[in-house]
Amino acid sequence: MELTKRQESILEIVKKEGPITGEQIAERLSINKATLRSDMAILTMFGLLGARPRVGYFYLGRTLNRIIAEKLHQIKVGEIKSIPVVISDQSYVYDAVVKMFIEDVGTLIVVKEKGLLEGVISRKDLLKTTLSSPDIQKLPVSVIMTRMPNIIMVEPEESVWLAAKRLIIHEIDALPVVRSVASANGKKGFEVIGRITKTSITRLFVELGEES
Ligand code: ADP
Repeated sequence: MELTKRQESILEIVKKEGPITGEQIAERLSINKATLRSDMAILTMFGLLGARPRVGYFYLGRTLNRIIAEKLHQIKVGEIKSIPVVISDQSYVYDAVVKMFIEDVGTLIVVKEKGLLEGVISRKDLLKTTLSSPDIQKLPVSVIMTRMPNIIMVEPEESVWLAAKRLIIHEIDALPVVRSVASANGKKGFEVIGRITKTSITRLFVELGEES
């Protein structure tokens, strides 16, 4: 969203003189109040200006970037996560390669019994292995995966911004979305309930862009 010249001028006036009524703003700009109505609606809707009856408009001190940032922090991982593509920790590298093609994903999440997170396998993990190992039909995925407790994950209540930040900081393509559970032996485990990938974030970015 970009502000028009007139909206920028209104912001300046309210910043300097607020609280100020619509009539006074119209007067400063030498236009009539009706012309101003849609601008005032936009500026208040985006949270740049506040409005109070019998007081007038006042500046809220938020920038457009700040408002975009607030929106990104508001959207939770649970709202945009996709279904997880998982493989059992008992399977072999060959199965992982096949699964990656069939499911058309770049990262597989490895789970043990009850769907608890055990590891992650990426495209390059598989490429590397197929170059160096002659028999991938007999090589267990558990040997080549990145394993717990080194897995970077995210919870459904965390923000998509935080998920995106983890993807960037750790230079990875996907995060398992997990819920913490107590496993049988009393140890803490993580049930896999979804995944967030660079594609999830890009899709959200495009959807947000279409709103404007
Ligand atoms: P690629 O290997 O295709 O470039 P990534 O950048 O996602 O894909 O993976 C790089 C490395 O990080 C791989 O060894 C992979 O096992 C590991 N990895 C991927 N996702 C995670 C994650 N969520 N947590 C920890 N390690 C991960």
